[in-house]
Amino acid sequence: METKYLENWLRDAHAMEKQAEEMLEKQAERLVDYPELKARIEQHLNETRHQSDRLEQAMAGLDIDTSALKDLGGKITAFGQALGGMMMGDEVMKGSIACYAFEHFEIANYKALIQAAESAGHTGVAQVCKEILQEEIAMADWLADHLESTTTQFLHRADDDDQRAKR
Ligand code: MG
Ligand code: FE
Repeated sequence: METKYLENWLRDAHAMEKQAEEMLEKQAERLVDYPELKARIEQHLNETRHQSDRLEQAMAGLDIDTSALKDLGGKITAFGQALGGMMMGDEVMKGSIACYAFEHFEIANYKALIQAAESAGHTGVAQVCKEILQEEIAMADWLADHLESTTTQFLHRADDDDQRAKR
């Protein structure tokens, strides 16, 4: 089985995780008045850093050169813009929505990667991706479970105290 796509997709996944790390860092450092959300984002930030490491190990195991991994520094994407932009007063909501979407983007990527790895007979790589997939699903589920309550909290605080609603 052709492994060119598996290799490319692993590199893409690594770049995706670097972008995730940047997004989550920004979101975590910005959040003040949503401690539960902040804590969950910090937890996933740690998981995300470990995901990059595990992908690098998986790539090294396939003899993929990891020294030339794409550096996404400064590269702004659509997701990055949702978080990296100006203070519009509702960044907790913009951030929650962007993170929710991004986790689903990750889920789709890992599902494809798992199939590619299994098709190529690289069960160890598939296993790594399955473990990461579970972390992405857990984060997506958490965000899904909390999006409404975050929104309600945000709107209540917006009525109450304009500043404290924001982040
Ligand atoms: Mg991830
Ligand atoms: Fe994630």
